[in-house]
Amino acid sequence: DLVAVKRALLSVSDKTGLVDLGKALAGHGVELLSTGGTAKALREAGLEVKDVAEVTGFPEMMDGRVKTLHPVVHGGLLALRDNDEHLAAMQEHGIGGIDLVVVNLYPFEATVAKGAEYAEVIENIDIGGPAMIRSAAKNHGFVNVVVDTEDYAAVTSEMAANDGATTYKLRQRLAQTAYARTAAYDTAVSTWMAAQVDTTPRRRTFGGTLAQTLRYGENPHQQAAFYTDGSNRPGVATAEQHQGKELSYNNINDTDAAFELVSEFAPESGPSCAIIKHANPCGVARGDTLSEAYTRAFDCDRTSAFGGIIALNQTLDGATAEKITEIFTEVVIAPDADADARAIFARKKNLRLLTTGNLADPTAPLLTARQVSGGWLVQDKDVGRITRDDLKVVTKRAPSEQELSDMLFAWTVAKHVKSNAIIYVKDGATVGVGAGQMSRVDSTRIAARKAQDMAEVMGLPAPLTQGSVVASDAFFPFADGLITAAEAGATALIQPGGSMRDDEVIAAADDAGLAMVFTGMRHFRH
Ligand code: 5GP
Repeated sequence: DLVAVKRALLSVSDKTGLVDLGKALAGHGVELLSTGGTAKALREAGLEVKDVAEVTGFPEMMDGRVKTLHPVVHGGLLALRDNDEHLAAMQEHGIGGIDLVVVNLYPFEATVAKGAEYAEVIENIDIGGPAMIRSAAKNHGFVNVVVDTEDYAAVTSEMAANDGATTYKLRQRLAQTAYARTAAYDTAVSTWMAAQVDTTPRRRTFGGTLAQTLRYGENPHQQAAFYTDGSNRPGVATAEQHQGKELSYNNINDTDAAFELVSEFAPESGPSCAIIKHANPCGVARGDTLSEAYTRAFDCDRTSAFGGIIALNQTLDGATAEKITEIFTEVVIAPDADADARAIFARKKNLRLLTTGNLADPTAPLLTARQVSGGWLVQDKDVGRITRDDLKVVTKRAPSEQELSDMLFAWTVAKHVKSNAIIYVKDGATVGVGAGQMSRVDSTRIAARKAQDMAEVMGLPAPLTQGSVVASDAFFPFADGLITAAEAGATALIQPGGSMRDDEVIAAADDAGLAMVFTGMRHFRH
């Protein structure tokens, strides 16, 4: 299965390692073909190169849109070397075999990432490159295809060991990598285009570019990697890390949850903080200052906040940084961090600090995908939002201004909590979070009990759920959950409504003197 490399075509945008590769190939007597910029770089290094234009008999034209799209190139890549008809066709049409293609594509993802204009993005959709990659990969029985500068060494070391030839095993592995690359490339193009037009999950595709292989997955026996989708959305994928170890799989997952939640609170609406554990918030709060927002979020559940992940909606300042360092925290993510904060964090080597420049747009149309056995479930991200005008008061008592404001805050948090989600909020801070239970009444009880625990820890006369409001991510199927919330001291409730027993639930609310509003929208998150 060894095939000698005699003729290679190199056409790369990223010229990293190109000259060394060219020299290694020339050392084995390989004839080098190349396109404009690549040929120039090789010649400048003193290598002998033939222009593809000379081989095709056509100049590169139309701003480089047409360079290598020619039967002389694709015939040379696709011809089966052990098929007499193919060999005869090569002979008849003057087609020489190409045994190695080295292509990395126009930097489409980087062009989108730098915020280029429409026309520039379009011009960076590579056409000839993916075509060559796909031809070469299909014919991996005879042809080597290299799309990743990191694979240059694999080819040159096999050639060194095998007198200029490569093994089938390597060519097959390279072909798989090649198709992963063209698939990811087209996905990046399609994802960018989806943002320009109004489309549905049915017409979307998803995928990404390998950004990082992770030490392991959710557990040490699982392999894992991180892929970016090229959208350049502010968040964990694009953040700058200032200190601390590499992020783990769980860190990335939790940091994303934290940042997406805090991004719901625009900086103009005042400082906000979210603390996440195992992808659920264990405290979310507003404050007059950022440090107050952090402290109030922390006070929701001091026990769980240990080893948590903190997201802030404003520039991290020294006072907040000082508070945060009082306990062990895995990651802090914020739009920015000032010099004081950075100096304080520098003393905590293991704490990771990430800055994103901006918050994420919480209304941006994104996809979520989840694998199930035999398929994928794909949907629009939940970007549903409500305002006061959407609320329908269903009880005799209407909520007060303070209750309304807290209910909307609780509702926003509920969207980011695993179902069944029950959130108690008081004065712009969560005071109890019930997450991920299989019964809604259990979530209601757990959140109330956590608040009671915190009252004991903090030496408060009564739990903070006294005089709080409650959000429920979906309707109460029975009155029991609502009664539990009322017993914990809640005075108002926000929920979608729509249960068969709404009447029963409303009657129970009226009996307990609660104010209740229906949103008409639910926020399941499973
Ligand atoms: P160079 O720097 O050598 O002038 O151009 C290299 C780039 O051109 C590579 O990214 C390669 O994928 C791309 N390329 C090669 N052939 C074609 C073609 O026929 N059409 C287009 N649009 N791009 C090509």
